[in-house]
Amino acid sequence: MLGRAAPRSRRQTRATVLENLLRTGGAFRSAIARETRLTEASVSRILAELRSENLVQETRHPAPYAGGPTSLVTLSNDVAVAGIELSNSRLSFGVGDLGGTLDYVDRMPASPQLDQDEFERLFRTSAAAMQAWTDKRGIAVRQVALSIPGYGREAGNPIYPWDVTRLRDFLGEALPGMPLALTNSVVAQAAFHRYSPSTSYPVAGNHLFLFVGHGVAGVIVNEAASIDAFSAFEIGHMVIERNGLLCRCGHRGCIEAYTSLRAISPIVGLDASEILNRGDSFIDVHGLDSDVRAALRERLVMLGLGLGNALNLHPLSSVVISGWPSLMPEDDRAAIIAGIDESLLGGFDERRLSLSFVAPSIGNDPRAALYYAAYCFVSGGGLDARADAHAALEEIA
Ligand SMILES: [Zn+2]
Repeated sequence: MLGRAAPRSRRQTRATVLENLLRTGGAFRSAIARETRLTEASVSRILAELRSENLVQETRHPAPYAGGPTSLVTLSNDVAVAGIELSNSRLSFGVGDLGGTLDYVDRMPASPQLDQDEFERLFRTSAAAMQAWTDKRGIAVRQVALSIPGYGREAGNPIYPWDVTRLRDFLGEALPGMPLALTNSVVAQAAFHRYSPSTSYPVAGNHLFLFVGHGVAGVIVNEAASIDAFSAFEIGHMVIERNGLLCRCGHRGCIEAYTSLRAISPIVGLDASEILNRGDSFIDVHGLDSDVRAALRERLVMLGLGLGNALNLHPLSSVVISGWPSLMPEDDRAAIIAGIDESLLGGFDERRLSLSFVAPSIGNDPRAALYYAAYCFVSGGGLDARADAHAALEEIA
């Protein structure tokens, strides 16, 4: 039996309730109280407050049992958040709600070698178009998130080697008055899969989330801590073949050079933009000939080698993989296990390591950043900067 949680501030309590609603997509009061370990009285008080701010709504719902709860609490559809992604060789802007509905999407082609000047030009144009759209509808965006591959390393970003201070200053100026969270693409992907109602996320405890898309990266999802860009690690740039294939980072033999979407596109005979168009159905297993499947399995072995090595450095008992490997039949995915078995200390043992797969939603940018924006909004308790100062004063009082 778990004891009562330590006292939490008003903001933390609001954040706990809002995060529960984001994760569940809606819940009854009794379930919220149980899962957040708050009393039903506190939950009622917080919900009244959140409802008065139009952050949650309650809808009459058939009771699951006689005399049971009849009001389902969900996040309000009226809170606007924006997601911006630099991914899939494009810069995508989106505005939507906390439930992941995108009402506005704008995608501009962006070179994988985008320099900072070019990025600023492109961003400024897209940001102005987004703001014209929100202004016309009287929409106030409560939280913006921008995800960038490679972002968050203290040593700098080798993929987009930009000046981070200049980037932050620029974004503050290009999106005036909007709270902005900057993060690594893999963190946004993890938020998408964890909070999207279309994914039934397979793991509840601490685990490694591994994303295999245009880039390949991992993030350790620790249930007790918030996920941020500094927890991302660039497993994609682990070198597994000396003098191997050239990677976009400038090195040779990186995992990404063998396993990213770009790397496998010549094997499946589709160019990268065609893969984006087809989305998760780009791999038609029945249409693949045996040579192609064998070549893809070889790439999965290399992914497994890197994964086993990553787990040697940071042991975890559970890994969730999202990406094209998730679209392959189980027989072919066994190649990942073969790779892990070759590199993980002690070999692969299903009692010590569980692997799960979630479908990637290829080409859905900027939906991952939108979910990360929703995550940031609820993590802050749904309080804006001014209310935050106010809340801090209340806590002192
Ligand atoms: Zn590399």
